[in-house]
Amino acid sequence: MSGGNNALAPYRRLTVKIGSALLVDGQTGKLRTQWLRALASDIAALKAEGRDIVIVSSGAIALGRRLLKLDAIALTLEQSQAAASAGQIALSQAWAETLGEHGIITGQILITPNITEERRYYLNARTTVTTLLSLGAVPIINENDSVATAEIRYGDNDRLSARVATMIEADCLVLLSDIDGLYTAPPSKDPSATHLSEVAAITPAIEAMAGGAASHLSRGGMTTKVEAGKIATQAGTAMIIAKGTADHPLKALVEGGKHTLFHPVQSRAQARKRWIMGTLEVAGSLEVDAGAARALMTGKSLLPIGVTRVRGEFSRGDAVSILDPNGHEVARGLAGLDSDEANLVKGKKSAVVIELLGIGNRAELVHRDNMVLLLGAEAATR
Ligand code: GLU
Repeated sequence: MSGGNNALAPYRRLTVKIGSALLVDGQTGKLRTQWLRALASDIAALKAEGRDIVIVSSGAIALGRRLLKLDAIALTLEQSQAAASAGQIALSQAWAETLGEHGIITGQILITPNITEERRYYLNARTTVTTLLSLGAVPIINENDSVATAEIRYGDNDRLSARVATMIEADCLVLLSDIDGLYTAPPSKDPSATHLSEVAAITPAIEAMAGGAASHLSRGGMTTKVEAGKIATQAGTAMIIAKGTADHPLKALVEGGKHTLFHPVQSRAQARKRWIMGTLEVAGSLEVDAGAARALMTGKSLLPIGVTRVRGEFSRGDAVSILDPNGHEVARGLAGLDSDEANLVKGKKSAVVIELLGIGNRAELVHRDNMVLLLGAEAATR
């Protein structure tokens, strides 16, 4: 897929959020099969160009309520959780079959907010998604509606998709919905409202255009989309809102279709560094030998063999300081192992580490993607 005004051209990793109203016919409660097949061919074409695609799909509750013959009533929380449970099976099956027609394997991941807040779960979810991508699969993600309690529910997949996009460092989040972007006012209320093709930053004025502060009525409306935009753009991920109701909605974007683009306010690397340096408290430290300190400065990950001492108690995913033999902090990063595991494997060769821990692909103590080198540290290691 290509074209002069291709809105997706700059992006290599896309998270695409699909609303219930697109997947499920509001009248019959049935899956919009033809639409899904058309979307699957768009996804296959984007993948063939080397793009990673992660889908955040709604529709479990909408499908499940028909299966459980709950269509005609307003659902209680218990009933929607039951509907989500029944509908999720149908939803996953539809995705697996439809993408399967293009030879694409799908993997299902159900997320609760705990996963994005607790770093160990966060890292595991991220690793599963990126591993699926590296194996050529398309991860299909939804909220784990059947078990999420009211307090920890996202409640809407707009914000969930933004968390997922930032978690996997997607460079763009595409929200496919029933409206083709942001207008200067809700067009249903104000006929003079005009469409915005780009938003440089989400200011209070932009939030006001979306219809003011979030409320229980705005679930899935423009407010949660702008909320999603804040999460994404702060973390260095662009966001596109486009209308997805007609067939081939991604192809339409490739061909220059109408949409609103929200620009990221900082790069993903900057956002990640800020997060590691600014948000996280350091839970322990790793002292490394001179060779390892030099290797870090050339962009290498920290392997157990270079570690001489482990201080503090930390869990995988906690922030740790990395100290050179003189005790100077040269880097900070997220630990790839718990402190007791780190103690067990420090100073050991990778082959021995793999034997000891039995997890071949997680032999790094701090992966370079999860590490920030400190300014001036390079001079100190010379
Ligand atoms: N997770 C819900 C479902 O699959 C949808 C939530 C939303 O669309 O925002 O039915």
